[in-house]
Amino acid sequence: MSYIKAVFPGSFDPIHYGHIDIAERAARLFDEVVVAVYDRPLKQLVFSPEERLDLVRQSFAGHPNITVTGYHGLTVEFCRQIGAQVIIRGLRVFSDFEREFRMALANHRLAPEIEVVALITDEKYTFLSSTTVREIASLGGDVSSMVPPHVAAALRRRFSEDDETWYNHYLPASLRGD
Ligand code: ADP
Repeated sequence: MSYIKAVFPGSFDPIHYGHIDIAERAARLFDEVVVAVYDRPLKQLVFSPEERLDLVRQSFAGHPNITVTGYHGLTVEFCRQIGAQVIIRGLRVFSDFEREFRMALANHRLAPEIEVVALITDEKYTFLSSTTVREIASLGGDVSSMVPPHVAAALRRRFSEDDETWYNHYLPASLRGD
């Protein structure tokens, strides 16, 4: 049988246990899983592309068939470039379905040779999202049950008052109060 390479794309701002569970389960189904960190999603970000990539890399260090890379542009073009046949997505609550369905149809139209495989979240991660993690961390809450320790530490640093980089470059001017 041929070697199947699957891409798990996302913003990962930041990566959390729901993402990690999907990648690890996909790694049991396919020969190789490439966790692909999209560099410039149309979202307000807390971590830069390099920071997100680094946090994702640390999350899968030593995993035998999970690799991590950044990418830009269309996901299907990235898949073609690296010879991946499958795109993995994770599905949580019902509200994910419509967006994922639309995206899967669009991707299929652009690249009919690439299959989208959606894995259903583990029950315990149903309501876990990067947005929730960011909100709790920004208010000084404990996110240790949601993200690995290195991500919790990065969030603490990011939301500490002396993190000038974030304050000046990532926090929108409207929220800076200056
Ligand atoms: P994107 O901006 O592409 O949606 P995300 O980083 O938010 O990037 O999510 C990447 C993928 O992980 C998406 O398919 C998303 O549905 C999935 N995902 C996010 N949170 C969870 C979770 N708690 N359980 C399972 N899948 C999840």
